[in-house]
Amino acid sequence: KTEYQRKPEWLKIKLNTNDEYKGLKKLMRENNLNTVCEEAKCPNIHECWGSRRTATFMILGAICTRACRFCAVKTGLPNELDLAEPERVADSVVVMNLKHAVVTAVARDDLKDGGSEVFAETIRAIRRKNPFTSIEVLPSDMGGIEQNIRNIMDAKPDILNHNIETVRRLTPRVRARAKYDRSLELLRRAKEMQPSIPTKSSLMLGLGETHEEILEVMDDLRANNVDIMTIGQYLQPSKKHLPVLKYYSPAEFGELRKIAMSKGFSHCEAGPLVRSSYHADEQVNAAAKQ
Ligand code: SF4
Ligand code: SF4
Repeated sequence: KTEYQRKPEWLKIKLNTNDEYKGLKKLMRENNLNTVCEEAKCPNIHECWGSRRTATFMILGAICTRACRFCAVKTGLPNELDLAEPERVADSVVVMNLKHAVVTAVARDDLKDGGSEVFAETIRAIRRKNPFTSIEVLPSDMGGIEQNIRNIMDAKPDILNHNIETVRRLTPRVRARAKYDRSLELLRRAKEMQPSIPTKSSLMLGLGETHEEILEVMDDLRANNVDIMTIGQYLQPSKKHLPVLKYYSPAEFGELRKIAMSKGFSHCEAGPLVRSSYHADEQVNAAAKQ
């Protein structure tokens, strides 16, 4: 029987709801848009949608062709492609007055282009309507097909983010149908295609990784020219998902951040509540200063 660890104090946070936040939620429903902020019940939503003016849109539907064992997104046969979605995302970026927009998607293994063309169109639509908003994209590995990566890089996002999620040894158990080396290759190729666009990757902790394995991920990302790294605590979305084997303390995250910076990342966010898109607006600035 698995022993579930109790959540430490630093992870117990209360969500307060205000009118502005309720208005934005309504806007999402009216426009038939999904955000990771809401789907994942992200604890940072008030800070991000409020003062930070950052949000993470999930395009290409809310049903994923994969079933990663840490992820709360539903698995199944995805809906038909919604070709008007890029414009609706762009319009919402206007209404939300976002400084930084993150666009991610479920893995569309049912599509040959992996959804990359809709991704590219979304980047272009946001850019057209919001020339001052920075745009970060967070695609799946899109089958590792070079043309799919190229479609996205040709649309020139401000940051290309692709998450490694966990250490090499745990990848087959944690990320069904993904491959550790395929993710590294995507990051390397994206950088080769557009060297001036910063690349970024996230790691979740608490799934049974060792300290040495965490350092190996940092080295592998740097060896593939990744600029920005984020490190956060894995939280179990439901009893059916993988259990949390360790809660890292804020001090341990601080140590890991220092090590990452010493390995040459231009920016590293590390902390219990850090998510891939947390404080992403600052990372654009940090990358621009390089
Ligand atoms: Fe949304 Fe990311 Fe902010 Fe969470 S950290 S609220 S997912 S933008
Ligand atoms: Fe979740 Fe992404 Fe895995 Fe799909 S591919 S199950 S959205 S983590």
